[in-house]
Amino acid sequence: MREKSTVIAWAEDAGYQVHLSEGEEKTIVGIVGNGRPLNKDQAARMPGVERVVPVLKPFKIASREFNPEDTVFPLGPHSVGGKELVLMAGPCSVESRSQILETAHAVKEAGAHILRGGAFKPRSSPYSFQGLGEEGLKYLAEAREETGLPVITEVMEPALVPLVCEYADILQIGARNMQNYALLHAVGRSQHPVLLKRGMSSLIEEWLMSAEYILSHGNNRVMLCERGIRTFETYTRNTFDINAIPVAKHLSHLPVIADPSHATGKWEYVAAAAKASVAAGADGLIIEVHPHPAEALSDGLQSLKPKRFAQLVQEMKAIARAVGREIE
Ligand code: PEP
Ligand code: MN
Repeated sequence: MREKSTVIAWAEDAGYQVHLSEGEEKTIVGIVGNGRPLNKDQAARMPGVERVVPVLKPFKIASREFNPEDTVFPLGPHSVGGKELVLMAGPCSVESRSQILETAHAVKEAGAHILRGGAFKPRSSPYSFQGLGEEGLKYLAEAREETGLPVITEVMEPALVPLVCEYADILQIGARNMQNYALLHAVGRSQHPVLLKRGMSSLIEEWLMSAEYILSHGNNRVMLCERGIRTFETYTRNTFDINAIPVAKHLSHLPVIADPSHATGKWEYVAAAAKASVAAGADGLIIEVHPHPAEALSDGLQSLKPKRFAQLVQEMKAIARAVGREIE
């Protein structure tokens, strides 16, 4: 205890930022630079210090070197990053009170653990449906009341972070905002759990650097989300980078979530991509489900009907068991 505080005080006095990761057996004191080199020998000589490990990667707190153990944290009654997979499901957009309530009950019945639904939508066209805004957040909160499912929703601007935090359990950073640094700082400061989508043309390293922004505020509850990237192929909406799952798990201790809906863009391929994600080691999935996809105000083409989603959950359970994981 005393030894730990001595190390922390030493690093802070030298002008470094300290990030603690307390495991069962040992504590990792992450010391993040201020441009000046750390006196490694001095650090190694301090009582209680077993080893000094320089993290050479540009992302520090996000890296496996910083924290060799998987990050696990609770999300409502479930948790992410451990043996159990977490399933998030719901419509692309919250369209009405009845639509989100109906979908929430349906996905819960099918086995989802978290309800998704966008209230603030990043649309390619300014003339497309932009979401219901705060009204949508209220409906999401009502759906949580009724079903007990925690809620994830996207936040698009720093000024709206406090409002979205009032209603949502998890903040989603969309692909288009992965490098919106002001937003990353704001969600980092919020200390709310965050799902960080990979930008549509982003390198894995850039994605992890974006996670680093959030982590640098001491907000450790960050999930990475692979949602497909842009390639020359246009038959599918995006190209699902299945590699990104094992790569991100190798480079980082953060949980990795797969989004087979945006990765494929067509409901016909969602189940295959979802099952592949489970086999590849994803810690969870986020899947678009709509009771009437043909009438959806956004992403109807990639939305599963509740019945198909329920079937997919059963199929994923078998794959999860085969790779030593579980879907409760
Ligand atoms: C969404 O989840 O509906 C969404 C807009 O996703 P992305 O940011 O991955 O495009
Ligand atoms: Mn969508």
